Amino acid sequence: MIKRNQFSIIAAALFVASGVAGGFYAQDAKSRATEIDKSFAKFAPAVKTRSDEKNFYVESNGLPDHGMMSGITAWQQQVPLPQKYSGPNAWQFPLFPVPAKEPMSAKSNFFRGAIAVAANGVPIFNPIKNDGRTDTLLAGELDQWGGHSGRGDDYHYHIPPLILQEKLGKSLPVAYALDGYPIYGLTEPDGTNPKDLDGFNGHSTSKLGYHYHATKTYPYLNGGFHGEVTERGGQVDPQPRASSPRPATEPLRGAKISDFKTLERGKSYSLTYIVDGKASKVNYQVNADGSVKFDFVDPTGSVTSETYRGRPERGGPRGGGQNRDGQRREGELGPPPGPRKPWFVDHAKGLDSNLDGEVTTLEVTDQCKSAFKEYADGGDSITVAELPDKRTVRNEVGGFMKVHAKELDQDGDGKITEAETIETMLRMFRKQDKNGDGKLSGSELEG
Ligand SMILES: [Zn+2]
Ligand SMILES: [Zn+2]
Repeated sequence: MIKRNQFSIIAAALFVASGVAGGFYAQDAKSRATEIDKSFAKFAPAVKTRSDEKNFYVESNGLPDHGMMSGITAWQQQVPLPQKYSGPNAWQFPLFPVPAKEPMSAKSNFFRGAIAVAANGVPIFNPIKNDGRTDTLLAGELDQWGGHSGRGDDYHYHIPPLILQEKLGKSLPVAYALDGYPIYGLTEPDGTNPKDLDGFNGHSTSKLGYHYHATKTYPYLNGGFHGEVTERGGQVDPQPRASSPRPATEPLRGAKISDFKTLERGKSYSLTYIVDGKASKVNYQVNADGSVKFDFVDPTGSVTSETYRGRPERGGPRGGGQNRDGQRREGELGPPPGPRKPWFVDHAKGLDSNLDGEVTTLEVTDQCKSAFKEYADGGDSITVAELPDKRTVRNEVGGFMKVHAKELDQDGDGKITEAETIETMLRMFRKQDKNGDGKLSGSELEG
């Protein structure tokens, strides 16, 4: 007896040999891509697509053309910034999905990164957030469209954006899971209710083959991968990386986002949030050089401004998009040419959070705390052995910790505590702080 998955592997092998898909997809790569593109083409030219013999690629800036952020009642202070999901940093999934020998559930895997990409080029993450238990929708973290912004100020959904059906209708998938299977809405294309959905919200029909559906309760979309995917560092690999010029922010207790306006698409935005009945605003503007200027307007109307500069592009393009999300980052690809500068000199720009040209112990300690918190996932220590596999926290200390995990473990117990992190960084800091005034400035920041 040949099991279904064995048959499909044989079919896939035949496809590779002949250039024509076996199994359900009796199409060549080009016709398959044309079929898939029907959903994404509805959102052109904001969404661009391409394909090769194996994969379908989706390029976008990650921002939807519908509203964002309004309705969030648990806010981490992140905002939507345009992302560069293009070139080697595009979204991708296989043209011809292959059923997995051991399908992986999203209940216990894939808490990081996306599990699907919507027809409008916006990624969809696991409905359970990266603590492995919180349902983002039930926790009030999502806006009325099912999305919010992540630590890279990257907008993403955690449930399928059914609003896209206004453009797509019921007959086209609203998204594709990263294993390559389509995700349809709450109904079949003919409007009837899907029958016999499996634990991943999927089933096979004669017309559509295997496909997933959206549901109004968990798992909301594909609750795992019926098809083959590569899991690496807790997420599907490869997938694009999001980034923000500013360090990750902290949750703001009691805040509710009441309004969000796009003043100029891709450039200028205004977010209003309410705390204790009083409205504050975050107005922000993306400049041509990639820097972002934030104006924080408090309830009295007083404005505090901060500008975060884009990270300099160093190290060239990141190897054909094969790097896992956040595992490497410009500036960590090896020492710069020439004599190596002290770490604090090399990373002063990213450490100087308030951009006053000096690096203070407070700025360093803050980065230590936020990097530690993220790596430790809410726990009180980080296992040295696991740190290299974690998604890199996007601040200078976060990058340092990944590379120097062992050195941070000062008592050698295989674990890093927040105190060890701060101690190590401040010890290095004091070496560089030649005049001992608690800040690095002037000649102390010259290589
Ligand atoms: Zn999220
Ligand atoms: Zn169906």
